[in-house]
Amino acid sequence: MQQHLTYFDYAATTPVRPEAAAALADALGQFGNPSSRYEYGRQAAQRLKEDRETVARALGCPPAELFFTSCGTESDNWALRRGAELNRRRGRHIVTTAIEHAAVLETCRDLEGQGYEVTYLKPDRAGQVSVEQLAAALRPDTALVSMMLVNNETGAVLPVADCVKAVKAYEPAILFHCDAVQGFLKTPAPLTSLGADLISVSGHKIGAPKGIGALYIKKGVRLRPLLTGGGQEEGLRSGTEATAQIAAFAAAVQAVCADEARLERTAAIKEYTLERLKQTLPKLKIISQGDVPHICAITLPGYKSEVVVRVLGDRGVCISSGSACHKGKPSHVFAAMNLPKPWLDGALRLSFSPDSTQEEADTLVQALKDAAATLFTTLS
Ligand code: PLP
Repeated sequence: MQQHLTYFDYAATTPVRPEAAAALADALGQFGNPSSRYEYGRQAAQRLKEDRETVARALGCPPAELFFTSCGTESDNWALRRGAELNRRRGRHIVTTAIEHAAVLETCRDLEGQGYEVTYLKPDRAGQVSVEQLAAALRPDTALVSMMLVNNETGAVLPVADCVKAVKAYEPAILFHCDAVQGFLKTPAPLTSLGADLISVSGHKIGAPKGIGALYIKKGVRLRPLLTGGGQEEGLRSGTEATAQIAAFAAAVQAVCADEARLERTAAIKEYTLERLKQTLPKLKIISQGDVPHICAITLPGYKSEVVVRVLGDRGVCISSGSACHKGKPSHVFAAMNLPKPWLDGALRLSFSPDSTQEEADTLVQALKDAAATLFTTLS
C-alpha cells in the first residue's frame, strides 16, 4: 500500500476506484480475446460490448460512435492527424488555442512541420477565448478546429458548444475536435451535446487505471485509423482490445455517474479551501477560481512555484505548478494569459475530488502558510 499523502492533484490523475479495480481483476480472469470464435472469446466480446455501451451512454452517444484508445493523448493525436488529413482538400489551416494540452499542441507543431498552418487563439487574463475570436480566425482553407472543453490548469470551461455552432455556420465541412479529458463527468451536460465531430476522453481522470481512453467519432465522419493491423474497433483502431482496462473504465464511469452529488461536493471543498487560503495567506492571489468544480489556480507572487511544490511534497502535500506534463517547465497556459512575472513565477494548480476533506484542506493551507513564511521571495 502507498503511504497516505494529502493529495490535491486530481487533475493530474486520480486513484483507481475500488469498483474499477474489482472490474479489472474480474476481467483479467476472463482472458479470452474478443476476436476468438469460441466461448472464451464470445464472453470477452460480450463484456466489451456492455462496457462500450456504458461509456457511450455517459458521453451521450450510440456505442457505434465510441472507439477505445490507449489514452487521451492517442485520442487527440488520432483526431488531429486524421481529421486534418480527411479535410486536406479544403486546405491546410488548423485553428486551436494557445492553452491546449501538450497532446494537442505538440501534434499541431508536428503538423506544422508537415506543411499545415496553425492559428493559436490567445486567451484573455481569465484564460478564456471567445466565439468572436474563433470566428475571426476561420478561413476558406480551414480544415479543422480543436478546442478543449476544460482547461487543465485554470479549470476554465471554454465556449465549445457556441464555437461549434459558429464553425458549422461558417462551413459545415470544417471538422471540430474537442479535447474533453478534463470535462468528462465533471460538467453537467453529456459531452455529445457540444455538437463536436470528435471528442477525446481519458480513463485515469475519473478513477480508471492509466492507459485507457476513448475517441467519440460522430456518425458520418470517415476518419482513417491511426493504428492499422487486425482491424479491431470496426477497423478503425487495431490492436487487441485492452479488455481489463476497458472493464475498469466502464466500472469507473458507472460509479462516478451513480454519485449524483459529486459536483456539488467538489465545488464545496474547493470553495472552503479558497476561503481558508484567502483568510490565512493575504499575499495569495487567485488566478482562476475555475468554472469546473475540481480545478483552480492560485499564485504566491514572487515565490518559485517549483520550490513551493517541492517543499510541500516533502511534507506529504501534493499539488502542482501546472500540468503534470510540464515537469518543472513554466506553464504555457499561465504564460499565454499574460500574467505579471511574479504571478507567473508563483503559479500553482490545486485540483480536488468529491471526497477531499476539510482536514486535508486545512493541512494544505498550513503547509502553504509555512512555506510562504520560510521561503525566499523576490517581493516583500
Ligand atoms: N488533454 C488534457 C486536457 C489533459 O489534462 C490530459 C492529461 O493530463 C490529456 C489530454 C492527456 O491524457 P492522457 O494522460 O490519458 O494521455
